[in-house]
Amino acid sequence: MKYHLITLGCQMNKSDSERVKTVVEGMGFVPTDSEEDANLLGILACSVRQKSIDKVYSKILKWNKRKDRESLITFISGCVLPKDRESFMKSFDLIFTMDELLQFPDMLVQYGVVTPAGLMRRQDTSPETAPLASNPAHAVNSLNLTNLLQQKKKLSAKDIQLSINHEAANIQNFWDIQPEYSSEFEAFIPIQNGCDKFCSFCAVPYTRGREVSRPSHEILDEVKNLVDKGYKSITLLGQNVNSYGLDKKGDELSFAQLLDEIGQYGNSTGKQFWVYFTSPHPRDMNQDVIDVIARYDCLAKQIHLPLQSGDDRLLIKMNRNHSMEKYRSIVQYIREKLPTATLFTDIIVGFTSESDEQFQHTAEAMREFAYNMAYVAVYSPRPGARSSRWDDDVPMQVKKERLHYLSDIFGASSSIWNKNLLGKSIPVLITGVEKKTGYLMGYNEGRINVRILHTDKSLIGQIVPITITTALEFSLAGELSQPL
Ligand code: SF4
Repeated sequence: MKYHLITLGCQMNKSDSERVKTVVEGMGFVPTDSEEDANLLGILACSVRQKSIDKVYSKILKWNKRKDRESLITFISGCVLPKDRESFMKSFDLIFTMDELLQFPDMLVQYGVVTPAGLMRRQDTSPETAPLASNPAHAVNSLNLTNLLQQKKKLSAKDIQLSINHEAANIQNFWDIQPEYSSEFEAFIPIQNGCDKFCSFCAVPYTRGREVSRPSHEILDEVKNLVDKGYKSITLLGQNVNSYGLDKKGDELSFAQLLDEIGQYGNSTGKQFWVYFTSPHPRDMNQDVIDVIARYDCLAKQIHLPLQSGDDRLLIKMNRNHSMEKYRSIVQYIREKLPTATLFTDIIVGFTSESDEQFQHTAEAMREFAYNMAYVAVYSPRPGARSSRWDDDVPMQVKKERLHYLSDIFGASSSIWNKNLLGKSIPVLITGVEKKTGYLMGYNEGRINVRILHTDKSLIGQIVPITITTALEFSLAGELSQPL
C-alpha cells in the first residue's frame, strides 16, 4: 500500500515531515509521488497564509470525491488552528498534532485500517488482496513503544513497524523518532518547539503551543551522527531558536552554549560542514551567540534576523518586544565580529495602520542594514492571530508598491556584496543540477545561490572551491577553481 504526503509551509513542517515519513513507512506504507496511486493521503498544514488553508480544502474535496470509488484514508497534521481543527475533523479521517504522532498507528487501527505491517504478520493474508479497512482486531501487535523509549532507544521505522500499541506520546517521543532525512548532505534538526512570544500577526503560539527545548545531548548526538555520515549542511530549527534553554533555565545549556558544544565538536573532527540556525528573535539575541559563531569554522557566517518593521511604534503594535535601538546594536555587533557574514531578514509591509512615514522607517532600516536577502511579505490577517481582529486598512495597491520599493533597496545592497566576490575562490556546497541547462547549482557558506558552469553530477553533496565569474542581484555564478 502506498502513501502520499503533502507538506505546506516552513522548514519546521518540512523537518516534521521527515519524522511523519518514518512512522508511516514503519507501518509498511511506501511513498508515491502520485496522489492517484496512494491509499493513504496526508497533509502537513500551514496556517500562516490563507492560500495554504485554501489548498487544504481543495485537496480534501478532491480526495473525498475519490472515496466513492476507492478505499482510501486521509489525515492532516502540522500547524492547524483550533477553529480549523473542527472543520478538518469533519472532512479528514484523522487529525493529530506532532506530539501525538506516535499514536498515529493506533489511530489507524482504531479507524479500522489494516496497515501493511499488520498484514505481514497475518500468515493467512496477502497485502495485495486485503481491503484497506478491515477488522482492527487483526491488525495489532503489542510490542510497546514506551518500553523502547524508556530504553532511550532511537525509534526507527522498523521499531514502529513492530510497535502499534503504546501510551500517550508527547513532543519528547516525537523527537525520539529517527527521521527519514530527505537529503544525503543537508539536514534539519528541530531543537525546540512552540513559541511564547505572541506577535500580534502570528498564530504559531496557538497552533504549536509554548516553547519546549529538546535535550541538548540529543541534539549533539544528531549533529555528530550526521557529520559522521558526511552531511555538509545542518540547520538547527525552532520558532525562536535562540530562546533555546530558557524554558529549563539552569537545567539546560543556553543557545550560545549549545553552539559552543557543536563548534568544539566541529574543531575536533577536522571535517568541513556548516551549521545554520533559523529563526532567532532579536529580543533574545545576545553577544554570546555572535561571539561563539565567530570562534568556530563550522558555525556558518550567516544570520537570519527578522526585522518585520523598522518603526518602533509598529514594533510595539506587532508585540515584537524589542526596539530599533536594540536591533541596530545587534547588527552593529554582527558586522564587527562577523565581517564576512551575510544578513537575511523577514519584513511585513502594510501591517494594520502602517503609515507612509512608518513604512519609510522600514525602508531606511533596509538601507542601513544592507541585507543580502529579505523575505518581504504583504500583510494579510492570519486567522487566529490577534491582528486578525483589527482593520486590514492599508489598500492592497499600496502594499504592493511598498513591497516593490523594498525589493529594489535590498537588491542593490545584495548586488554590492555579491560583486565583492568577483574573481575570488569560495567554497560552495553543490546541491543539484539546473533542469534546463544541466549546470550544477549550490550555495556558499552565506547561503547565496551559486550556479556552476560544470555538469559533473558526482560533485553533488560536496563542498568544492568555485571561482566567482558573475555577480547578479541575488545570486552568483562561477567555475571550478581547480580542474578535476
Ligand atoms: S516569534 Fe512571533 S512570529 Fe515567530 S513564531 Fe513566535 S509569535 Fe510567531
